[in-house]
Amino acid sequence: MSEQSNIDFGAVGGDGHGTPPAISTNHPAHPHLDDDDDGITSARYRRIDSYDASSTAAIAANVRSILTHIGEDPEREGLVKTPERVAKAHQYLTHGYTLDPRDILSKALFKEEYDEMILVKDIELYSLCEHHMVPFFGKAHVAYIPDGQIVGLSKIPRVVDVFSRRLQVQERLTMQIRDAINEVLQPKGVAVVIEATHMCMVMRGVQKQHSSTTTSAVTGAFEDERTRAEFMRLIG
Ligand SMILES: [Zn+2]
Repeated sequence: MSEQSNIDFGAVGGDGHGTPPAISTNHPAHPHLDDDDDGITSARYRRIDSYDASSTAAIAANVRSILTHIGEDPEREGLVKTPERVAKAHQYLTHGYTLDPRDILSKALFKEEYDEMILVKDIELYSLCEHHMVPFFGKAHVAYIPDGQIVGLSKIPRVVDVFSRRLQVQERLTMQIRDAINEVLQPKGVAVVIEATHMCMVMRGVQKQHSSTTTSAVTGAFEDERTRAEFMRLIG
């Protein structure tokens, strides 16, 4: 059995096969509130999440096994629906694999002679480290200096999100964002800085609780000391 595997924000509709859409109260920022199944929906707005049924079943079976192996009872009341919730949460948290950031950027290009720095800062970022599958989160700052074409501003956070919703290391994430923008826009330069807190460090006590990690990746004009300094000053 297959369902839609895309994540569809806000659209109201079925799956195209005459089946009514599944309504879920999922909120990705609050995974502990997932799947309340209270049936309460707004008349004007519904968020539709759909998941691949066979993936959900396969992941859930493994989560049940994990629960058993950590000494839990997967049959106790609080855990009965946990494997399915975890399966859906992980499909959401890794949905970036099925999206192409270069495609997102190339569909929103505009010819423009503006040639000063364009900076989108404080972009919220949520990802999973590939070593522990534990969250890391923080902010990305992305700047570029166009060379004849600009991209719709909302596409920059979108690209950050698509690469973040995969298993990542912060260093590669930083470079992937830079490279996608560089390849599609062919600007005079791109700079990406990410500041993030890694729960695998914080929770396991490897480092101090409030430590954060900063990574940066630049191309072209940002390799110039003054341009890079201006960027760093602007992101403060
Ligand atoms: Zn980790």
